[in-house]
Amino acid sequence: MKLYFPSYYHSFHCIASDCPDSCCHEWTVDVDPETAEKYRALPGNLGDRLRSVLQDTGDGTVMTIENGRCPMWRDDGLCRIHAELGHDALCKTCRDFPRLTHDYGDFTELGLELSCPEAARLILTTPYRPMLFQAIPGGTEPDYDPNDMALLLHSRREALTFMQATKNVPYALAALLLYAHDVQAAMDSGEVLSSTLESCIEEIAHYRGQGDISAVFDFFRGLEILTPQWKQRLDAPSSMPNWNPNLACYFIERYWLQAISDFDLLCRVKFVVSACLLIGYLGGNIIETAQLFSKEIENDPDNMEAIFEGAYTSPALTDANLLALLTKECCDEN
Ligand code: SF4
Repeated sequence: MKLYFPSYYHSFHCIASDCPDSCCHEWTVDVDPETAEKYRALPGNLGDRLRSVLQDTGDGTVMTIENGRCPMWRDDGLCRIHAELGHDALCKTCRDFPRLTHDYGDFTELGLELSCPEAARLILTTPYRPMLFQAIPGGTEPDYDPNDMALLLHSRREALTFMQATKNVPYALAALLLYAHDVQAAMDSGEVLSSTLESCIEEIAHYRGQGDISAVFDFFRGLEILTPQWKQRLDAPSSMPNWNPNLACYFIERYWLQAISDFDLLCRVKFVVSACLLIGYLGGNIIETAQLFSKEIENDPDNMEAIFEGAYTSPALTDANLLALLTKECCDEN
């Protein structure tokens, strides 16, 4: 089978004590059952400490948070388990983070999470290239519909190529949203996709308007908020939005194919568009802003679910509002 990965994937190295926002900060870490058992059986001081901070939730075991941090975090910014027992002693969550794996049976895609500052730096600053691949043993019979997967793979490739070729990001996002409607219709009907992103460009002019960015901010303020820093950022939007095509490509690569699980591409593309708009309007250093967004939104399943639902119910995320905001930016950029 084939293993696909972004060109920057193997360049990632945890920067540990130099990390400006460690993954040990604010998050409650799920500890897999095998590791929890090993931790509870450890002798000595470290074992005593682990026994005092591991907590059973009914669904599994978590490391409790103390003073906003993982209790294994040391003053020098390093992990006590890693320092005393080595990398292999970490629980699966900590061993894997920020690496992502999407297994589709006959092929697998790897990626990095934007919520890690070092991964965010690589994602947003490495010149974009299509995913690389290597053949590896293994794989299983896929349980997806091959026609749907072919449609999603084709349309994602088109979307990524278009996003990189079009220097005007809001313009490309507007075309992408219109294109997603056509891809969704083809998936729903089983008919051949006849539109292209180029054909969607012709429609963009019909949606020209002002849009309401404050409605988008209000929507995100209504979601779960993890850090005071995020709340402050949401309360202080910028009037000069930042755009980065790599950011849109990251979201497209990560979420487009996941529509194979529930046949809902449109809600994911609305997520891509609203995420790029929000991060753009938050302003500041785009790497820091995108990393904070990811930590608050992508890593919170309740927030992701609320956005997918809001794609069909929230006035902030209607096509009319998103397209008006994007077309306003297209005009301002031209
Ligand atoms: S967030 Fe990333 S760079 Fe920072 S400590 Fe965690 S894995 Fe390392």
